Amino acid sequence: MSDIIRRDPRAEWIARNRLHPLHAAMQPASASWMGPNGVLRKNVHGLGFIGPNGIKRIDRSGAQQGGTVKRAASEQVQLPLHQVPAPAFYICVVPDMAGGRLASHDRDVLGLARQLAGSDGAVLAVVFGECKETAFARAGVDRLLLLDSEGYAPEQRVHDLRAVDNQFAPRHWLLPDSRNGGAELGRRLAASLGQRPATRVWQIKDGTCLGRAGAGLQDLAQPLPRLILAAAECAEPVSETLHEALPVQLPTDAPRCLPRIEDLGAVAVDPAATPMAEAEFILSGGNGIKDWGLFHRAAAALGATEGASRVAVDDGFMGRERQVGASGTWVTARVYVAVGISGAIQHLQGIGGCDKVVAINLDPGCDMIKRADLSVIGDGAAILQALIAAVDNWRKSARRDAA
Ligand SMILES: Cc1cc2nc3c(=O)[nH]c(=O)nc-3n(C[C@H](O)[C@H](O)[C@H](O)COP(=O)(O)OP(=O)(O)OC[C@H]3O[C@@H](n4cnc5c(N)ncnc54)[C@H](O)[C@@H]3O)c2cc1C
Repeated sequence: MSDIIRRDPRAEWIARNRLHPLHAAMQPASASWMGPNGVLRKNVHGLGFIGPNGIKRIDRSGAQQGGTVKRAASEQVQLPLHQVPAPAFYICVVPDMAGGRLASHDRDVLGLARQLAGSDGAVLAVVFGECKETAFARAGVDRLLLLDSEGYAPEQRVHDLRAVDNQFAPRHWLLPDSRNGGAELGRRLAASLGQRPATRVWQIKDGTCLGRAGAGLQDLAQPLPRLILAAAECAEPVSETLHEALPVQLPTDAPRCLPRIEDLGAVAVDPAATPMAEAEFILSGGNGIKDWGLFHRAAAALGATEGASRVAVDDGFMGRERQVGASGTWVTARVYVAVGISGAIQHLQGIGGCDKVVAINLDPGCDMIKRADLSVIGDGAAILQALIAAVDNWRKSARRDAA
């Protein structure tokens, strides 16, 4: 084969032209970005492309600049399947599964479990309650155990995890050290197993783990214990292999424990009083909002916490504490709705940790639409009106049904 470097000037031109419809598809994977806690992350796996035989190739000649054909091909290449027919040991992970899906923290913990499992061990994911996730195989799960659970039932869950411990005798237990349940469940499990966990672990190396301590100002190094509560970004999520995610079960006659805790349901909180960094659902307004009264009514109707772009804040429509972005607050909402916001890089940096982004904008080519998971192209005012009407109708029919 000739070793002449062949360039594709058209592809390079599209990669530079942000207004071209194929621009996004021509971009190399993001090489670095700001993580939710402000630490700069670099995707070392974003370099290069996967060749037809599944081996990663890194072309340092520069010929890949705008080399889109190869990247597009890499996305279609089947990932190699990692199988563990007879696991020598298990690494057990209990993901939070907020909303029934794996969150980025869960994927980081699964990535860490994968490191600990090596080639002989299997990663066993124990999932409680309703499960909507379909990508366990891509997240590094070799075995999957689905267990029934409703509402807040930590005692029942610890009881079930003890049954898992008896059956699979995992070498390590890994849980996300998070507010979504993992931190509490992990500590309860540790107490129940009579083991001392390593908490807020962000690195494991050579049998030693490093965890945050001293109000986050110090690192605590200790020999790797059996139970690990891992911080977000503790490891790279699995991205280069496919796993079996084979279903496993506990014996059906395992006794259920009698609950001493009764879940009385969620308590309503005032979304307006929720700090931006903690808000789960944010309605954010930008320069495209002309009627701010309507925007506030929509936020109240949807029960969303209000956010804003810097232009909206500079123009005096919103308080400085509501600004989202590089020079405002970095938010990690599960749903972020951006109305009339163009998606400047400083704004996009602030929403890097959001799970789902919905963009409402007149301009189908703006960067916020490119970033969004769901886009509505149209006048923001008309769409907010329609949203308020839809919520009102839904509430009325819910009241009618209840009466
Ligand atoms: C050092 C520095 C730091 C910065 N930090 C931040 C930051 O933290 N956060 C931040 O947000 N910005 C920040 N900025 C500013 C940033 O560069 C942009 O200027 C700003 O985000 C743009 O705000 P916008 O999207 O609301 O306004 P515009 O860019 O004016 O966009 C308005 C959008 O509204 C749409 N629109 C107009 N009318 C309608 C309508 N009727 N219905 C629907 N859509 C409509 C338009 O199509 C457009 O996309 C920073 C800038 C600098 C230099």
